[in-house]
Amino acid sequence: MNFDGIIGQKDILLSLKKSIENGRVGHAYIFNGPAGIGKKTVARAFAGIVLCANREGSAACGKCIPCRLYKEGSNPDFMDIEAQDTSIGVDAIRQMQEDIIKKPLYSPKKVYLISEAEKMTVQAQNGLLKTLEEPPGYAVIILTTSGYDALLETLRSRSVRYDFRQYSEEEVREALIREFGTIPENADFIVSYSGGIIGKALELAGSEEFADLRDNTVDILFKIRNPGLYSIFEIYRFFEENKSKLDTILDIMLTIYRDMLVLRKTGNEYMLINSDKKDIILNNIQDFSAGKLLTDINTLETARKNIRQNANFQLSIEVMLMKLQEE
Ligand SMILES: [Zn+2]
Repeated sequence: MNFDGIIGQKDILLSLKKSIENGRVGHAYIFNGPAGIGKKTVARAFAGIVLCANREGSAACGKCIPCRLYKEGSNPDFMDIEAQDTSIGVDAIRQMQEDIIKKPLYSPKKVYLISEAEKMTVQAQNGLLKTLEEPPGYAVIILTTSGYDALLETLRSRSVRYDFRQYSEEEVREALIREFGTIPENADFIVSYSGGIIGKALELAGSEEFADLRDNTVDILFKIRNPGLYSIFEIYRFFEENKSKLDTILDIMLTIYRDMLVLRKTGNEYMLINSDKKDIILNNIQDFSAGKLLTDINTLETARKNIRQNANFQLSIEVMLMKLQEE
Protein backbone atom coordinates (compact mmCIF):
# COMPACT_ATOMS: atom_id res chain seq x y z
CA MET A 1 0.00 0.00 0.00
CA ASN A 2 1.60 3.23 -1.16
CA PHE A 3 0.69 6.82 -1.88
CA ASP A 4 0.41 6.27 -5.65
CA GLY A 5 -3.21 5.19 -5.64
CA ILE A 6 -4.40 8.08 -3.50
CA ILE A 7 -6.38 10.86 -5.17
CA GLY A 8 -5.78 14.46 -4.08
CA GLN A 9 -4.14 15.75 -0.86
CA LYS A 10 -0.98 16.28 -2.91
CA ASP A 11 0.68 18.72 -0.48
CA ILE A 12 0.26 16.38 2.46
CA LEU A 13 1.54 13.37 0.52
CA LEU A 14 4.54 15.33 -0.71
CA SER A 15 5.43 16.46 2.79
CA LEU A 16 5.08 12.94 4.20
CA LYS A 17 7.17 11.52 1.34
CA LYS A 18 9.94 14.02 2.04
CA SER A 19 10.00 13.17 5.72
CA ILE A 20 10.30 9.46 4.85
CA GLU A 21 13.06 10.01 2.29
CA ASN A 22 15.02 12.28 4.63
CA GLY A 23 14.66 9.89 7.55
CA ARG A 24 12.76 12.55 9.47
CA VAL A 25 9.53 10.76 10.25
CA GLY A 26 8.05 12.36 13.38
CA HIS A 27 6.73 10.71 16.53
CA ALA A 28 3.25 12.17 16.43
CA TYR A 29 0.91 13.34 13.70
CA ILE A 30 -2.57 14.78 13.73
CA PHE A 31 -4.54 14.29 10.52
CA ASN A 32 -7.40 16.74 10.78
CA GLY A 33 -10.44 17.09 8.52
CA PRO A 34 -14.09 16.16 8.05
CA ALA A 35 -15.29 12.53 8.07
CA GLY A 36 -14.85 10.81 4.71
CA ILE A 37 -12.06 13.08 3.51
CA GLY A 38 -9.44 10.29 3.38
CA LYS A 39 -7.45 10.77 6.59
CA LYS A 40 -7.43 7.08 7.43
CA THR A 41 -6.53 6.06 3.88
CA VAL A 42 -3.47 8.31 3.98
CA ALA A 43 -2.61 7.20 7.53
CA ARG A 44 -2.75 3.52 6.54
CA ALA A 45 -0.61 4.08 3.47
CA PHE A 46 1.90 6.12 5.47
CA ALA A 47 2.04 3.42 8.15
CA GLY A 48 2.64 0.76 5.48
CA ILE A 49 5.62 2.65 4.08
CA VAL A 50 7.13 3.39 7.47
CA LEU A 51 6.78 -0.27 8.50
CA CYS A 52 8.48 -1.66 5.38
CA ALA A 53 11.91 -3.17 6.07
CA ASN A 54 13.07 -2.69 2.50
CA ARG A 55 11.75 0.69 1.42
CA GLU A 56 12.41 1.95 -2.08
CA GLY A 57 12.54 5.74 -1.77
CA SER A 58 9.21 6.71 -0.31
CA ALA A 59 7.43 3.50 -1.34
CA ALA A 60 6.95 0.22 0.51
CA CYS A 61 8.44 -2.77 -1.30
CA GLY A 62 5.30 -4.88 -0.83
CA LYS A 63 7.43 -8.06 -0.55
CA CYS A 64 9.27 -8.04 2.76
CA ILE A 65 7.84 -9.78 5.84
CA PRO A 66 6.48 -6.59 7.47
CA CYS A 67 4.84 -5.55 4.18
CA ARG A 68 3.19 -8.95 3.73
CA LEU A 69 2.00 -9.08 7.33
CA TYR A 70 0.68 -5.55 7.09
CA LYS A 71 -1.28 -6.40 3.97
CA GLU A 72 -2.83 -9.37 5.79
CA GLY A 73 -3.69 -7.10 8.70
CA SER A 74 -1.43 -8.99 11.10
CA ASN A 75 1.74 -6.92 11.42
CA PRO A 76 2.44 -6.92 15.17
CA ASP A 77 4.27 -3.61 14.87
CA PHE A 78 1.05 -1.87 13.90
CA MET A 79 -1.83 -1.15 16.24
CA ASP A 80 -5.24 0.28 15.39
CA ILE A 81 -6.98 2.05 18.25
CA GLU A 82 -10.64 2.87 17.76
CA ALA A 83 -13.51 4.11 19.88
CA GLN A 84 -15.44 1.46 21.83
CA ASP A 85 -19.02 2.69 21.79
CA THR A 86 -18.59 6.44 21.84
CA SER A 87 -15.23 7.04 23.47
CA ILE A 88 -11.59 5.98 23.65
CA GLY A 89 -10.86 5.36 27.28
CA VAL A 90 -7.69 5.39 29.30
CA ASP A 91 -7.54 1.57 29.21
CA ALA A 92 -6.97 1.59 25.47
CA ILE A 93 -4.11 4.04 25.94
CA ARG A 94 -2.61 1.95 28.77
CA GLN A 95 -2.67 -1.10 26.52
CA MET A 96 -0.87 0.90 23.87
CA GLN A 97 1.70 2.06 26.43
CA GLU A 98 2.43 -1.52 27.49
CA ASP A 99 2.99 -2.40 23.85
CA ILE A 100 4.99 0.63 22.84
CA ILE A 101 7.90 -0.10 25.20
CA LYS A 102 8.57 -3.42 23.46
CA LYS A 103 10.91 -3.06 20.51
CA PRO A 104 9.48 -3.71 17.02
CA LEU A 105 9.46 -7.35 15.93
CA TYR A 106 9.85 -7.12 12.15
CA SER A 107 9.69 -3.47 11.16
CA PRO A 108 12.07 -0.59 11.67
CA LYS A 109 9.23 1.31 13.38
CA LYS A 110 6.07 0.69 15.34
CA VAL A 111 2.97 2.59 14.26
CA TYR A 112 -0.10 3.37 16.37
CA LEU A 113 -3.16 4.71 14.59
CA ILE A 114 -5.75 6.36 16.82
CA SER A 115 -8.91 7.06 14.80
CA GLU A 116 -11.47 9.67 15.80
CA ALA A 117 -9.00 10.90 18.39
CA GLU A 118 -11.43 13.57 19.55
CA LYS A 119 -13.28 10.72 21.26
CA MET A 120 -10.41 10.18 23.71
CA THR A 121 -11.46 10.97 27.25
CA VAL A 122 -9.43 13.60 29.09
CA GLN A 123 -7.72 10.83 31.10
CA ALA A 124 -6.88 9.03 27.86
CA GLN A 125 -5.43 12.22 26.41
CA ASN A 126 -3.38 12.84 29.53
CA GLY A 127 -2.13 9.27 29.36
CA LEU A 128 -1.13 9.70 25.74
CA LEU A 129 0.62 12.92 26.63
CA LYS A 130 3.01 11.01 28.90
CA THR A 131 4.01 8.84 25.95
CA LEU A 132 4.45 11.84 23.68
CA GLU A 133 6.72 13.51 26.23
CA GLU A 134 9.24 10.67 25.89
CA PRO A 135 8.39 8.46 22.94
CA PRO A 136 10.68 5.52 22.07
CA GLY A 137 12.76 6.33 19.00
CA TYR A 138 10.93 3.82 16.82
CA ALA A 139 7.39 4.94 17.72
CA VAL A 140 5.08 6.75 15.30
CA ILE A 141 1.64 7.76 16.56
CA ILE A 142 -0.97 9.01 14.11
CA LEU A 143 -4.17 10.62 15.35
CA THR A 144 -7.00 11.17 12.90
CA THR A 145 -9.70 13.59 13.94
CA SER A 146 -12.56 15.71 12.73
CA GLY A 147 -12.46 17.68 15.97
CA TYR A 148 -8.99 19.18 16.35
CA ASP A 149 -10.20 21.62 19.01
CA ALA A 150 -11.27 18.76 21.28
CA LEU A 151 -7.65 17.68 21.67
CA LEU A 152 -5.56 19.00 24.56
CA GLU A 153 -3.27 21.86 23.63
CA THR A 154 -0.37 19.90 25.13
CA LEU A 155 -1.05 17.03 22.67
CA ARG A 156 -1.45 19.37 19.75
CA SER A 157 1.82 21.16 20.43
CA ARG A 158 3.74 17.86 20.35
CA SER A 159 2.29 16.72 17.03
CA VAL A 160 2.73 17.58 13.38
CA ARG A 161 -0.62 18.76 12.08
CA TYR A 162 -1.97 18.13 8.60
CA ASP A 163 -5.27 19.67 7.54
CA PHE A 164 -7.03 17.61 4.87
CA ARG A 165 -8.73 19.81 2.32
CA GLN A 166 -11.90 19.15 0.39
CA TYR A 167 -11.49 17.63 -3.03
CA SER A 168 -12.04 19.41 -6.32
CA GLU A 169 -14.94 18.33 -8.53
CA GLU A 170 -12.46 16.68 -10.90
CA GLU A 171 -10.92 14.67 -8.08
CA VAL A 172 -14.33 13.45 -6.89
CA ARG A 173 -15.20 12.46 -10.47
CA GLU A 174 -11.90 10.60 -10.74
CA ALA A 175 -12.70 8.72 -7.52
CA LEU A 176 -16.18 7.81 -8.80
CA ILE A 177 -14.79 6.47 -12.07
CA ARG A 178 -12.15 4.49 -10.21
CA GLU A 179 -14.75 2.97 -7.90
CA PHE A 180 -17.52 2.22 -10.41
CA GLY A 181 -15.52 1.81 -13.60
CA THR A 182 -17.69 4.40 -15.31
CA ILE A 183 -19.10 7.80 -14.51
CA PRO A 184 -22.47 7.27 -12.78
CA GLU A 185 -25.56 8.82 -14.34
CA ASN A 186 -26.14 10.97 -11.27
CA ALA A 187 -22.48 12.07 -11.05
CA ASP A 188 -23.17 15.82 -11.36
CA PHE A 189 -25.53 15.59 -8.42
CA ILE A 190 -23.24 13.38 -6.33
CA VAL A 191 -20.21 15.60 -6.97
CA SER A 192 -22.09 18.71 -5.92
CA TYR A 193 -23.96 17.12 -3.06
CA SER A 194 -20.89 15.52 -1.48
CA GLY A 195 -19.23 18.92 -1.09
CA GLY A 196 -15.79 17.64 -2.02
CA ILE A 197 -15.77 14.75 0.45
CA ILE A 198 -14.78 11.61 -1.42
CA GLY A 199 -15.98 9.16 1.24
CA LYS A 200 -19.44 10.70 1.15
CA ALA A 201 -19.53 10.74 -2.66
CA LEU A 202 -18.61 7.05 -2.90
CA GLU A 203 -21.09 6.06 -0.22
CA LEU A 204 -23.97 7.99 -1.77
CA ALA A 205 -23.20 6.90 -5.32
CA GLY A 206 -23.25 3.26 -4.24
CA SER A 207 -26.40 3.50 -2.12
CA GLU A 208 -29.67 2.27 -3.60
CA GLU A 209 -31.51 3.58 -0.57
CA PHE A 210 -30.22 7.07 -1.22
CA ALA A 211 -31.09 6.82 -4.92
CA ASP A 212 -34.65 5.79 -4.03
CA LEU A 213 -35.03 8.58 -1.51
CA ARG A 214 -33.85 11.08 -4.10
CA ASP A 215 -36.22 9.74 -6.80
CA ASN A 216 -39.16 9.87 -4.39
CA THR A 217 -38.27 13.34 -3.18
CA VAL A 218 -38.14 14.70 -6.73
CA ASP A 219 -41.48 13.02 -7.45
CA ILE A 220 -43.10 14.52 -4.37
CA LEU A 221 -41.67 17.96 -5.06
CA PHE A 222 -43.52 18.21 -8.36
CA LYS A 223 -46.70 16.69 -6.92
CA ILE A 224 -46.86 19.54 -4.41
CA ARG A 225 -47.71 21.92 -7.26
CA ASN A 226 -50.65 19.74 -8.35
CA PRO A 227 -52.96 20.16 -5.37
CA GLY A 228 -55.97 19.03 -7.38
CA LEU A 229 -54.42 15.61 -7.87
CA TYR A 230 -52.74 15.00 -4.53
CA SER A 231 -53.91 16.25 -1.18
CA ILE A 232 -51.51 17.88 1.22
CA PHE A 233 -52.14 15.03 3.64
CA GLU A 234 -51.03 12.41 1.13
CA ILE A 235 -47.90 14.38 0.47
CA TYR A 236 -47.36 14.95 4.18
CA ARG A 237 -47.29 11.19 4.68
CA PHE A 238 -44.05 11.00 2.68
CA PHE A 239 -42.39 13.44 5.09
CA GLU A 240 -43.79 11.61 8.11
CA GLU A 241 -42.51 8.24 6.84
CA ASN A 242 -39.05 9.69 6.21
CA LYS A 243 -38.92 11.90 9.27
CA SER A 244 -35.39 10.86 10.22
CA LYS A 245 -34.13 11.85 6.77
CA LEU A 246 -35.77 15.25 6.66
CA ASP A 247 -32.50 17.16 6.33
CA THR A 248 -31.48 15.06 3.35
CA ILE A 249 -34.91 15.49 1.74
CA LEU A 250 -34.80 19.26 2.16
CA ASP A 251 -31.23 19.34 0.77
CA ILE A 252 -32.35 17.37 -2.28
CA MET A 253 -35.36 19.65 -2.78
CA LEU A 254 -33.12 22.71 -2.53
CA THR A 255 -30.88 21.41 -5.32
CA ILE A 256 -33.94 21.03 -7.56
CA TYR A 257 -35.16 24.56 -6.77
CA ARG A 258 -31.64 25.81 -7.37
CA ASP A 259 -31.57 24.09 -10.76
CA MET A 260 -34.91 25.58 -11.78
CA LEU A 261 -33.71 29.01 -10.73
CA VAL A 262 -30.56 28.59 -12.83
CA LEU A 263 -32.72 27.56 -15.80
CA ARG A 264 -35.02 30.54 -15.28
CA LYS A 265 -32.12 32.99 -15.02
CA THR A 266 -29.71 31.60 -17.62
CA GLY A 267 -31.61 29.06 -19.71
CA ASN A 268 -28.43 26.98 -19.58
CA GLU A 269 -29.22 23.25 -19.27
CA TYR A 270 -25.56 22.38 -18.82
CA MET A 271 -25.34 24.02 -15.42
CA LEU A 272 -27.79 21.66 -13.72
CA ILE A 273 -26.71 19.77 -10.61
CA ASN A 274 -29.53 17.28 -11.23
CA SER A 275 -28.58 16.78 -14.86
CA ASP A 276 -29.99 13.23 -14.79
CA LYS A 277 -33.37 14.71 -13.82
CA LYS A 278 -33.33 17.25 -16.64
CA ASP A 279 -36.49 15.94 -18.32
CA ILE A 280 -38.75 16.12 -15.31
CA ILE A 281 -37.36 19.58 -14.45
CA LEU A 282 -37.96 20.90 -17.97
CA ASN A 283 -41.46 19.40 -18.00
CA ASN A 284 -42.42 21.29 -14.86
CA ILE A 285 -40.49 24.53 -14.94
CA GLN A 286 -43.38 26.47 -16.51
CA ASP A 287 -45.16 26.21 -13.13
CA PHE A 288 -42.40 28.13 -11.33
CA SER A 289 -41.47 31.78 -11.82
CA ALA A 290 -38.07 32.99 -10.58
CA GLY A 291 -39.81 34.94 -7.81
CA LYS A 292 -41.80 31.89 -6.72
CA LEU A 293 -38.63 29.78 -6.62
CA LEU A 294 -36.88 32.27 -4.35
CA THR A 295 -39.89 32.31 -2.01
CA ASP A 296 -39.97 28.49 -2.02
CA ILE A 297 -36.30 28.27 -1.10
CA ASN A 298 -36.98 30.52 1.88
CA THR A 299 -39.98 28.41 2.83
CA LEU A 300 -37.82 25.26 2.94
CA GLU A 301 -35.14 26.96 5.04
CA THR A 302 -37.76 28.26 7.47
CA ALA A 303 -39.28 24.79 7.89
CA ARG A 304 -35.85 23.31 8.54
CA LYS A 305 -35.05 25.97 11.12
CA ASN A 306 -38.36 25.55 12.92
CA ILE A 307 -38.02 21.78 13.15
CA ARG A 308 -34.44 22.07 14.40
CA GLN A 309 -35.77 24.35 17.12
CA ASN A 310 -38.25 21.63 18.08
CA ALA A 311 -41.35 23.15 16.56
CA ASN A 312 -44.21 20.68 15.97
CA PHE A 313 -43.15 18.48 13.04
CA GLN A 314 -46.54 17.96 11.45
CA LEU A 315 -47.51 21.61 11.72
CA SER A 316 -44.19 22.83 10.31
CA ILE A 317 -44.34 20.47 7.33
CA GLU A 318 -47.99 21.20 6.56
CA VAL A 319 -47.39 24.96 6.66
CA MET A 320 -44.38 24.43 4.39
CA LEU A 321 -46.44 22.38 1.93
CA MET A 322 -49.27 24.93 1.85
CA LYS A 323 -46.82 27.73 1.16
CA LEU A 324 -45.16 25.72 -1.60
CA GLN A 325 -48.60 25.18 -3.16
CA GLU A 326 -49.43 28.89 -3.19
CA GLU A 327 -49.30 30.69 -6.52
ZN1 LIG B 1 8.49 -3.96 2.45
